[in-house]
Amino acid sequence: MKSFFSRYFTSHLLILLFSLFIVGFFSIISMNQFLYSDNLDRQIVYTEILAEMFSRAGQSPGSEQAYLDTLEVNPQIRITIIDRDGTVLGDTEADITLMDNHSNRPEVIQALSSGRGTSKRISKTLRESLLYTALYREEEGLVFRVSMVVGNIDRMVTQLTLRVSLITFLVLLVALLISFRQTNSINRMLKSIVAVVTDYAGGDFHQNLYLGGFREAVEVGDAVNSMGRQLKEKIETVTIQRNKSEAMLDNMVEPVIYLDSNLVINDINRAALRMTGCSFIQCLGKNLLQIIRDIHLCRLAEECLKDNVPLSEIITLGPRHFMVQGTTINSSDGSDRGLLLVMNDVTEIKQMELMRKDFVANVSHELRTPITSIIGFVETLRMIPGARSEQHDKFLEIIHNQSQRLGEIINDLLSLASLEDSHALVKETVLLEDIVGEAEAVCHMKAESRQVEFVHEFDPDTVLCCHKNLTAQALVNYLDNAVKYGPPGEKVTVRAVREGNMTVISVIDRGSGIPEDQQERLFERFYRVDKARSREIGGTGLGLSIVKHIALKHGGKAGVDSSPGKGSRFYISFMDCPEK
Ligand code: ADP
Repeated sequence: MKSFFSRYFTSHLLILLFSLFIVGFFSIISMNQFLYSDNLDRQIVYTEILAEMFSRAGQSPGSEQAYLDTLEVNPQIRITIIDRDGTVLGDTEADITLMDNHSNRPEVIQALSSGRGTSKRISKTLRESLLYTALYREEEGLVFRVSMVVGNIDRMVTQLTLRVSLITFLVLLVALLISFRQTNSINRMLKSIVAVVTDYAGGDFHQNLYLGGFREAVEVGDAVNSMGRQLKEKIETVTIQRNKSEAMLDNMVEPVIYLDSNLVINDINRAALRMTGCSFIQCLGKNLLQIIRDIHLCRLAEECLKDNVPLSEIITLGPRHFMVQGTTINSSDGSDRGLLLVMNDVTEIKQMELMRKDFVANVSHELRTPITSIIGFVETLRMIPGARSEQHDKFLEIIHNQSQRLGEIINDLLSLASLEDSHALVKETVLLEDIVGEAEAVCHMKAESRQVEFVHEFDPDTVLCCHKNLTAQALVNYLDNAVKYGPPGEKVTVRAVREGNMTVISVIDRGSGIPEDQQERLFERFYRVDKARSREIGGTGLGLSIVKHIALKHGGKAGVDSSPGKGSRFYISFMDCPEK
């Protein structure tokens, strides 16, 4: 690319040359025209006077040369009288007998055709530049021609041309000198701006730009200096923030890894280095799979980056379990995406959770036998005939009821424990109608005692891909609650609808409903809206929790929509079986 200096200076030079050439050329042309036209006017008048004098002198034909000889003519002027056919009849300079026919002379041709003619050329006879004027007079039938030597005008024009050229050259020289200085100073200014801005780009903000000369240059200097100051402040702020983030990241107990869109490690903290057993240099630029050999984690990270959704999943690396939290980070223009992985070591929590589950399962299991025998003995005692006080019978009834309740709680806890183990369910395709029928049969007695009628709102051909017994258990829990908490004599509806690749089954009652702030916690273990009433009615507080776990085991979910005073809709969704 051309430099500023060569481009700017060359264009100045061309503009100057062009304008000076135009000015010089037109001034010389105008000068030339002015000098000749002045002379020509005078010469025409002179020719007219001569012709008039010749006419007044009353000359007879053939006396033209004699008449001219009587005139005292300036040696610079020559007079020729020419006949209509071009024959020279008189001349003040040459011998007419030696002169050729003049009918071909341009001024003579013009005069014969229009009365007047002019021309300028080098005379063959005198070998000098001459200006000719010719006048044709009809009365005499003669052409009067006057010629004057104009060599002095030519010389004058040449001299003027020389002077104009010299002046033009001098003007050009001075203009070029000024242009050179200006261009050079702007060029120096640009170079110093480039030098300072290059320093700024390299992170060196020590230099300041001092430009003088004119207002705009000072303004540019001020703007560049202010830009430098702002950049410096911003870079300092960013550096402080980066150092803070690095310190926080390095002091975090949780391993943190930042990946680019190709799962290449861009940054990694100390905890993650400890976990992987690699050094920072070894990890940087490597693919995640090379450092953490877990294909499941890599797949999750890929999906998270592709779908731009947060990731939250427990993965197992050797003996330890990590809760991996992934967050995508998009570049400001959205063209690039990275993934921040935070790995929380949940091994201890997992172990405690396992202990808790084992404990609950073991205790429930151990309690089941004594409770069963207590119930058995109480029933036996109640059946033995004999005189017993009323109080005895009442106490026996209380012991029987409470033992049965305890037995139900133990059964529910054992159901939950078995649902919580990691074994996958064996699912089958079952007609929904069959499962609903089974569940309703279990609740039949209670429903009849409260005059509750079950209504179906689903296609009889609806099938579910599920574990039949567990699904029936979930529906029993929902239907039992609907009968228990709904008003007597009302209808309870079982509805099934398709939502994407799921079938959603709802149990709808027209009971008192559940306040909105309590709906979220309803599926927690032992959570009850009205504890006293629930106990009185005879619930364990585990029914909905069991439904939730059954839904999760099927890859679906359980939930509730309820409007206090109007009723509730409890639902559970089932995913379709994968097509074979
Ligand atoms: P419970 O054995 O006490 O019924 P659940 O887990 O089945 O335990 O239910 C938890 C609580 O949810 C109940 O105690 C009750 O307060 C509330 N609940 C459940 N189903 C309904 C319903 N259909 N209408 C109103 N409240 C309900």
